Amino acid sequence: MSGDLHLRGEAISKGGLHDLKKWQHLQDLLSQTIKANISLFDGVGNYLTKPSQVTGFCADFVRPVAPHVKPEIRCVMHAFQHFQLHESERIYTCPHKLRFANSKIKRGDKTAFVIVIGPILIGSRPNNDICRAHCKELGIDPEIFCDRIREIPLFSHQGLQIVTEFTEYLHQYLRLDESVEEKPSLESQP
Ligand SMILES: [Zn+2]
Repeated sequence: MSGDLHLRGEAISKGGLHDLKKWQHLQDLLSQTIKANISLFDGVGNYLTKPSQVTGFCADFVRPVAPHVKPEIRCVMHAFQHFQLHESERIYTCPHKLRFANSKIKRGDKTAFVIVIGPILIGSRPNNDICRAHCKELGIDPEIFCDRIREIPLFSHQGLQIVTEFTEYLHQYLRLDESVEEKPSLESQP
């Protein structure tokens, strides 16, 4: 996953880069505290920091059982794109039935930053039978998937809301929106 990343360091002012380093540190600490992965994007889908990773991402859990099945679904990027298209939605459910939450930071009426938290589970954890049936539908190996998703953290709706509000406050406190310049083009891979 990290090999796919394009970080925007070169496009960011000196002060902004310093703030992004602070954010990276806080993002890593928060990720370890809530036991969920956190990714930070600018408004057009560039990674601004290295994703904080405490569990796998979907692609780490998915092994196809047939050669024609493509496992490389970049669910984090799909989550970002979903949140950009559906402004008011806070949760995205990926094809693996894992969830991603977001909080957005605005600059005027435009989205300056999107924080994506996930993959996570909300409310309940699927039992083994449900998980295996879902893997069969997707054409992926249930031994790996149903074992590895035990690492995925489970949130209540209220707990998740507290986490997303906290990240928004943290962003405002760091005032990243004032120190990171806008960049017009989408540079990450789709
Ligand atoms: Zn997924």
